[in-house]
Amino acid sequence: MTQRDYYEVLEVDRSASADDLKRSYRRLARQWHPDANPDDPEAEARFKELAVAYETLSDPERRRRYDMFGPEGAAAAAGGDPFGGGGFGGLFDTLFGEAFFGGGGRGQSGPPRGVDLEAQVDLTLEQAVFGTEAPVVVRTAIACDTCEATGAAPGSHASTCPECGGSGQVRRVRQSLLGQMVTAGPCPRCGAVGTVIDDPCPDCRGEGRRIEERTYTMDVPPGVDTGTTLRLTGRGAVGPRGGPAGDLYVHIRVQPHERFERHGRDLLHHLHVSYVQAALGVEIELETLDGPRALDVPAGTQPGTLLRLRGLGAPRPEGRSRGDLVVEVVVDVPTHLGDEEEELLRQLATLRGDAVAEPDPGFFSRLKSAFK
Ligand code: ZN
Repeated sequence: MTQRDYYEVLEVDRSASADDLKRSYRRLARQWHPDANPDDPEAEARFKELAVAYETLSDPERRRRYDMFGPEGAAAAAGGDPFGGGGFGGLFDTLFGEAFFGGGGRGQSGPPRGVDLEAQVDLTLEQAVFGTEAPVVVRTAIACDTCEATGAAPGSHASTCPECGGSGQVRRVRQSLLGQMVTAGPCPRCGAVGTVIDDPCPDCRGEGRRIEERTYTMDVPPGVDTGTTLRLTGRGAVGPRGGPAGDLYVHIRVQPHERFERHGRDLLHHLHVSYVQAALGVEIELETLDGPRALDVPAGTQPGTLLRLRGLGAPRPEGRSRGDLVVEVVVDVPTHLGDEEEELLRQLATLRGDAVAEPDPGFFSRLKSAFK
């Protein structure tokens, strides 16, 4: 799922004021309004995208979180109401007085589809690289089993809605920001379901669904990274009174690894060697995500040298070829020398003709006592 930057969607810059946002949103909403673009799926998608962007950025707290953490942070702040209250519907009621989607689709009858939900899953680097099955915990709306999602008390039945005659839709002529509009909207009496409940189910109060925490198992393909969003179709909230379920969008977050940094497909490891090992060379057994591998650090290796272990990085989600494990050599210079070590280094400096700092006065007296 590609998601455009909300500011870009609203065609404003990041310093835009609340008024700028509103002005720009209204202008674009008029342009992409489904009534102005009948049967144009792109316009509908743009319109929804606008709504999501505006809903987030028009709320100062969610805007702050979006600026800091991106869409996930803003979504997390929304708290995820499985019944969708205060969601898109709330926004449109405010701005247009009409719910445009999430209401079973325009001109369709039957119970509305439930809202899409979002969840977050934390993975280790190993899980992200090799793929895994991960549990996804989400507070969602599920069908009420007491009434089998009908909303009617056991032994009773729903009856045809007298307001819309069972179609679930009512047509209205109204004044709006966009001028006079004829709109088909969900029937307010039955909530677009087409039937009304005279004797509501005691367990769900006629809603046909109830809120519960559910855990789903998700197949995570190899190669996901922080920022990857996976969709579980039909794992969102069910609609009221037997309405189909929305989808569940799962945002992946990969935990930092103690030895490897992820850089796209490549993994970076800082390998610490002593200055002696760097000068003389050393063969190291390196623990990779794929098990131990021999790594040759050649004699004379300079600090910052990059050594590559091909194919031991992360795969691209769309393909199987893996990136590399890149080993950056860090040469450790000792901060404290033993007397014997210092003596040898001073001999080495003399041999090489290297000018070095004078030893501290204690060095010779310690040396004398050591050779007595
Ligand atoms: Zn029920």
